[in-house]
Amino acid sequence: MHIKTILNRVQNFKSFLYESVYWVEDAAQPTIEARLRPRVNGQAICSCCMRRRPGYDTLPVRRFEFIPIWGIKVFFRYAPRRVNCRTCGVRVEQMPWADGKHQLTQTYAWFLSEWAKRLSWKEVAEAFRTTWGHVIRSVEMAVVWGLDNRDLSNIEAIGIDEIAWKRGHKYLTLVYQIDAGCRRLLWIGQDRKTKTLLRFFWWLGRERSLQLRFICSDMWKPYLRVIAKKAGHAIHVLDRFHIMSGFSKAIDEVRAQEARTLKSEGYEPVLTKTRWLLLKRPENLTDNQEIKLAELLRYNLKSVRSYLLKEEFQFFWSYASPYWAGRFLDKWCTRAMRSKIDPMKKVARQLRRHRPLLLNWFKAKGQYSSGIVEGFNNKAKLTTRKSYGFRTYHAAEIALYHALGALPVPKTAHRFI
Ligand SMILES: [Zn+2]
Repeated sequence: MHIKTILNRVQNFKSFLYESVYWVEDAAQPTIEARLRPRVNGQAICSCCMRRRPGYDTLPVRRFEFIPIWGIKVFFRYAPRRVNCRTCGVRVEQMPWADGKHQLTQTYAWFLSEWAKRLSWKEVAEAFRTTWGHVIRSVEMAVVWGLDNRDLSNIEAIGIDEIAWKRGHKYLTLVYQIDAGCRRLLWIGQDRKTKTLLRFFWWLGRERSLQLRFICSDMWKPYLRVIAKKAGHAIHVLDRFHIMSGFSKAIDEVRAQEARTLKSEGYEPVLTKTRWLLLKRPENLTDNQEIKLAELLRYNLKSVRSYLLKEEFQFFWSYASPYWAGRFLDKWCTRAMRSKIDPMKKVARQLRRHRPLLLNWFKAKGQYSSGIVEGFNNKAKLTTRKSYGFRTYHAAEIALYHALGALPVPKTAHRFI
């Protein structure tokens, strides 16, 4: 069987044919080239308006990289024609295998971008002996196509989240769709200001904003303000993940402070290496950690008392009725305010201030996938942490949409993966 026959089976074009396929002597790496030409009488299509137009001239031969076989590089070779278009002027013709100025065939770009969902970009470049630049451009192409072709109907539940980006206090605002049937990253914005989230609602549009039924977010004030203004009709929930990460921050603060005090007063360092003991859920501790935690709990330390307050608060989430949950919340806040531990008092004050939004959790219970924001948050952090080359906002954006956007892929792209 000839390679030409195989190419005709897997990748054939209506108005073009493979003239010849040959081995390239003297190439730096084993290389095969397939020469393409237009079919007789095949009139060129203007790449601008996509209409058949009379020819103008022919450009020099160009090479377009295709998916390698058996470690052998494969290129299409073709001399693009230019058309004389009534509406667009002199333009390069539309080639069904390539996009504008790209050196890769679309098929190969889709191939690389799909692999970039499973491996890091660097690994993809190494595995297929191509450059990092080709991988990022392929992913970019896939993201642009995916964003253009995704379905934005029936969005009822969204989660608004933020992740720290780069070192220092730079943030990205991420909006996820969290409907049970469709979970994906919808939108990314630089920063976490009022303006940022306003831009999201502007993008979403009025009609789709009115369809929203549930919104979950953390207690970040600019978000709360924008949500109240732009989607006041939806049930706004402060979800478990965000509330509990507020607790973790408070405990971290108490522990760090107390460790310093103990050290300066010359006590043995009971608190060193206890960070995870206090932050992890008890059921996630190892046996060894469990023993250490039991030991630690014998001390009447602020850190320990904060930990116990946090663990006690977990009970809040198990209520079925908002009324009883509210009673529990009030009692808990009173106790926390009496604890004389400032960071915990701060948490209590915050929870009190947002009591109605907190209790909305029980109204919305079971109506959207609540744990999903936490999962997305972890994945987003992981994606940005593989930070080589994500120094620009644009690259981070592309990477996040690619990893979390559940973007559609054209049918033809599936054939090779
Ligand atoms: Zn045209």
